[in-house]
Amino acid sequence: MAARVADESAEISLISNEFCAPYERPILSKAMLLDGETKLPCVLDEVTAESQDINLHLGLTATGIDPAAQIVLFGDGTSMTYDRLILATGSRLRRISLEGADEGNVHYLRSMDDCTKLRGQLTKGKKLAVIGGGFIGLEVAATAQKLGCHVTIIEAGETLLPRIGSPTVSAFVQNYHTENGVHFLFGVQAKAMVGGNLQLSDGTSLPIDMILAGIGVDPETTLAESAGLEVENGIKTDSYGRTSDPNIFAIGDVVNQMNPAYNRHMRLESWENANIQGDAVGKSAAGEMTEVSTIPWFWSDQGDLNIQILGLLDPEQACVERAGEEGGLTLVQLTENKIRGAVTINQARDMPLLRRMIADPSFHGDEASFSDEAVPLRKIMKSARR
Ligand SMILES: Cc1cc2nc3c(=O)[nH]c(=O)nc-3n(C[C@H](O)[C@H](O)[C@H](O)COP(=O)(O)OP(=O)(O)OC[C@H]3O[C@@H](n4cnc5c(N)ncnc54)[C@H](O)[C@@H]3O)c2cc1C
Repeated sequence: MAARVADESAEISLISNEFCAPYERPILSKAMLLDGETKLPCVLDEVTAESQDINLHLGLTATGIDPAAQIVLFGDGTSMTYDRLILATGSRLRRISLEGADEGNVHYLRSMDDCTKLRGQLTKGKKLAVIGGGFIGLEVAATAQKLGCHVTIIEAGETLLPRIGSPTVSAFVQNYHTENGVHFLFGVQAKAMVGGNLQLSDGTSLPIDMILAGIGVDPETTLAESAGLEVENGIKTDSYGRTSDPNIFAIGDVVNQMNPAYNRHMRLESWENANIQGDAVGKSAAGEMTEVSTIPWFWSDQGDLNIQILGLLDPEQACVERAGEEGGLTLVQLTENKIRGAVTINQARDMPLLRRMIADPSFHGDEASFSDEAVPLRKIMKSARR
């Protein structure tokens, strides 16, 4: 849509190998998994596409790019020329190899189809093993628990969500799920299925009905690699989203973008990042060059927990903790009086203020004022400008 706004007369085509119009994915592990009647939020429906004169090609796979001729090749034998090409191929699921497992009982969650299949099996009393204690695994665990399933999370590491960089957050989240009846097994790996039992690396086994593998994703760089673009932990782009070919741009989960906010390349798997890059790069591809500078922000809803993560926490550095209302918590990490990162748990009202403070170059805060819960964040924000 940003490209259409920037250029009213451009010929725009959007190609997706999925058969339904592009949709928001975060709901797949939350409301949509809980209740099949939930309406799927569309990003660009067919009516809007037509009214905006955008050619929507669904169920079509791009199989190759000829950058010299500026042509995209498709799986059905057709092709399309381009002046500018934007790659938004997202992430590819990491698959698990489990000897003896019936594929029908091993689930993944990336698409609407995955969600429909999994929801059909999450019935009361079923035993679900979630492999991987990351965000998707925890969101599915909370939803399955609400639906009356018995859930065990199997995590190869020693803690949940280590990438956030806060042991306090890891412990908080683990306590919440434990209190709601989720079981955790740390430091073990799933090895094989024997009968209805999942064999684990420590020699024990677990009776289960089904598995959800939430072991992460990799950037879907197949097309980019076939076109000879520079790829390193995703498609490398400059801060305008330009790849090593000046006619090809890239956005979203698949991109390792030069981020001026940190002066280094960064790959972010988050809804907001995909939206920000989509808006800016859509304009750039239409000729209105727009730089993208992002301070990472991500949210996760796990049952009644709302977790929001801002910036990049240094796991080696302590955070200031502020207890919130009704058991909520806010953590703030400062480096040389600047906010480096922050996390809110059921304390969403703090996040807009923290986002303003982290983005404001004139902001100077100190740990003493953040640690005094009697001092409202709004007051810190106003008094801490230089
Ligand atoms: C279950 C789930 C829950 C999530 N929850 C959150 C959340 O709570 N908060 C948050 O910040 N983020 C969340 N995310 C992450 C967020 O949805 C992603 O960061 C976002 O979808 C990335 O957008 P994208 O356009 O880069 O890629 P995608 O949304 O993955 O879209 C890529 C599209 O390209 C298609 N494609 C790939 N290759 C080809 C090809 N060769 N030809 C044609 N089509 C192709 C794919 O099929 C797909 O439709 C969640 C993701 C999932 C899966």
